[in-house]
Parts: sequence; C-alpha cells; structure tokens
Amino acid sequence: MAKLEPRGRKVKILATIGPASRDPEMLRRLLRAGADAFRVNMSHGDHATHEATIKAIRALEKEFAHPIAILCDLQGPKLRVGTFRTGERVVIRHGSRFTLDRDPAPGDESRVCLPHPELFGILEKGQRLLIDDGKIKLKVISADADRIVTTAEVGGVISDRKGVNVPDAVVPVPAMTDKDRADLAFAVKHGADWIALSFVQRPDDMAEARKLVTSAGGAQVALCAKIEKPAAVTRLDEILELSDAVMVARGDLGVELNPEEVPPLQKRIVNAARSLGKPVIVATQMLESMIESPTPTRAEVSDVANAVYDGADAVMLSAETAAGQWPEEAVSMMSRIARQVEGDASYRTRIRFHETPPDATTADALSHACMTIADTVAVSALVVYTGSGSSARRVARERPAVELMVLTPSVAIARRVALLWGCYAVATKDIGNFEEMVAKGKRMALRHGFGRAGSKLVILAGVPFGTPGSTNLLHVVTLTGDELASHGS
Ligand code: PEP
Repeated sequence: MAKLEPRGRKVKILATIGPASRDPEMLRRLLRAGADAFRVNMSHGDHATHEATIKAIRALEKEFAHPIAILCDLQGPKLRVGTFRTGERVVIRHGSRFTLDRDPAPGDESRVCLPHPELFGILEKGQRLLIDDGKIKLKVISADADRIVTTAEVGGVISDRKGVNVPDAVVPVPAMTDKDRADLAFAVKHGADWIALSFVQRPDDMAEARKLVTSAGGAQVALCAKIEKPAAVTRLDEILELSDAVMVARGDLGVELNPEEVPPLQKRIVNAARSLGKPVIVATQMLESMIESPTPTRAEVSDVANAVYDGADAVMLSAETAAGQWPEEAVSMMSRIARQVEGDASYRTRIRFHETPPDATTADALSHACMTIADTVAVSALVVYTGSGSSARRVARERPAVELMVLTPSVAIARRVALLWGCYAVATKDIGNFEEMVAKGKRMALRHGFGRAGSKLVILAGVPFGTPGSTNLLHVVTLTGDELASHGS
C-alpha cells in the first residue's frame, strides 16, 4: 500500500484540477505534495473529462487508503455580454456612451446585446455594470425594458461573451441555470462529496440547491456557498445556516466590491463560519504568480500565512494547479507555508483570537473539554467517533492543539471531513460496545502514527453507539504499544 507522508499541519489544501493537473500521475504528485481535496471546476471542460478526473482521484484514494474530498464547483448564473463582429475586439473609450440592449445583432463601439432579459427593468440610474472582471466600469444613465444606456467611467477593450458583474442590484436570476442543474446531477451521480454554488445571492438559493441535490439522490452531498456577491454578504448569517461550508471567493468578490473591502470581509466570513463550526475555504489568487513562476511573491506567502493564522479550514489553489506551469510546487509551497505558521509559537494564541464558546449542548461541552484536556495534559491525539460528521465539526471548531483522528463507518463522511481543519479521517467498521470503542481507538491511533507506548488518547463517542446526536462519552486512555498485536482490522 502506497503511503502519504504525515501532513504536519491542520489547515487543508484544496487544489483545483484542470489541464495542468488532470493527468493521473500529476494528481498523484499533488496528493503526495499535500493536496487534501480536489476541486472540479464545472465552468470549464466537459462531463467526460470530469468523469475521468473523478475516477482517477478515487483510484488514488484506493491506492493510498486515504479519504479524499472532491468538490464540484458549479458555474452559477454568470452574466455575459453577447458577441461582436467576428473575432473583433472593440474599444470603449473613457467617458463615451455605451448601450446594452436586447438586439442579438453583433455589437460595436456604441452597443452590444445583453442576453439576460432579467437585467432590463431592474437597473437604476447611477448603478454600475462591470465588464471583464471589472476592467471596464459603466455607469447607468437610463434603463428601460429594452435598453440600458451607460457612460464609460473606465473604458477598455471588450470582446465576445465577456463577463458582466452588477454589484449594486440583487439580480432576479435563478440560483441555478440549466447547465448548473445538469452539472449538479452529474456531480451527484459521480459521487462528489461537496457541491459549491457560485453567485449565491439569497438564502433561498441554498434551499433550492438542497432540494435539487436531494431529489437527484444526493442527500449525503454537502453544499458550499461561494460568497462572491455583496448581496450574499448582507445575508451571510442566513446563508451560512443553510450551507455546510462557505468559500471566500475573493476573485468575484473583489470585482463586485472595492478590493480593499475584501480583507475585512474575509476575516468576518472566516469568523462567522468558525463560530458555527462550518468549514470555511479561503480562495483565489493565493499563489497567483506561481502560474508562471516556480516561486511565489512574498506578499502571496503572507496572504496564505494570514489565512492560516485566521483559522480557515482550507486554503485553495485555482489556476495555479488547474492551468499553471508549477502545480506540484504550488501545493508544496502552500503546505510549507502552513507548516511554518502552525509551528510558530504565537499560532495557538492567534488562532483562538476569535472565540468560539460552546453551545449549551452535551456534545459541545464535551468537545470543549477535549480541547481543554489537550491543553492541560500531554495527549497525543483526540479520537472522535462520528456517524454524521457532526462531532468532528464540533471538536474541530475548538481548534485543539493536538492531532484529531476521526473514525467513522461512513466512507462518504470520511471524505467529506477531509476538508475540515485538523481532521484525519479513517473509514472503519462500526463499534458495538465500550470495549470495542477503546480497543479500536487505540489500534487506529497506533496504526496511523498518532501515539506510541505511554501516549494518552482522549476518546469522544456517543452511547448508544451508532445513534446520531448521542455524543455523551469522553474517555482518556493510555497506549501500551502492543494493541496492534491483538487484532486485525
Ligand atoms: C472566485 O471568484 O474567487 C472563485 C473562487 O470563483 P471561480 O474560480 O469559479 O471564478
């Protein structure tokens, strides 16, 4: 059985797969270099290619006997302008008048089609339209059912199907396009562990996605809300309630808002998710220069480090691993940065700057106790038994100082928690009684390198075993070191 080196860090690395990395050998190298989860970006590529990628990841999972999370990221209702005369790049001059209308005829320097009827009639004078990641800024002068007349506050070159952002309005588009629905069904069918929704605006968007996922047979699939619209920031708490995770999608967020508004929001979103014990991913441009260069800029290193100090569950690589020239180097660089930060003497204090007081539940009281025991006595690992993954989330939420091994009878849950801060998941047979719980916990800790003779373990479980929501048992045991000799599985 192939073995992975211990990660030596708690924060997880989510690597986006694309042409630079979908080859099975490159996937293996990314996994070895430190990727804990892979993102399949449905905005690019076709289903046959994505299916091959997912199969290759699952084959690696088998090869290394290590659960890997797969996140399928839906494109969402991305708005785009129509087309211009064949292949033409048109210049919109600063200060000039530019109209977006419903006429499908090819555009020129004075107008272009906007093939989104929902936008006509909702935009108001003074609101902004941003084209091509915000490179062109248009301000609405007048808008009616057929035409949106604007002035170009910042002009530039525009070409076919460039993206449009409308930061000042809640756009009455459905959360999911027909393509998203087809992609969602594909993701469920091919065993995605996470599905991410782009351009979420309202809590209802998450509720609708949940219904669709469930009716596609994916009740076990977890949902991640990408926070990239100001409207989503306004309703962050409600959206978080209906999501299993959130992503700080800084690319589009930084187009819809001023770039300087993104860092405080990043901290706010990370803290809000941590308070609820929901995983939070910090994404986009983290090591951007590594698309072309084998070493990152110092500022990028600092950006990754700060996300780790903030206590994010995962940091994400986008084009660096999907289309860059140095995908493996980008993953190992991210891993090195995280290890360095987590080894810093001030890390433990910094990560707990944001307090996450326990809810008034037995499960939370015990999760909190796990953290304080590990802070008080020398413990080599916390061993958490979970059926639904909930106990793993509640313990991880405490950001304990020691290793966190999650034992679950569900392969799906083991994969899903691969994205959670600090969780090392093992899918294993269910336990039936207290003695089995202790024996298996000890055995697994030894087998996976979480202790040796004389090490103490804290075991968290629920009786009756296998009953959701029953977490009520905290037990401290000491390893003799020969627990492996007595049993096989
Ligand atoms: C983002 O905008 O930051 C993001 C993660 O979304 P995508 O990569 O799908 O554009």
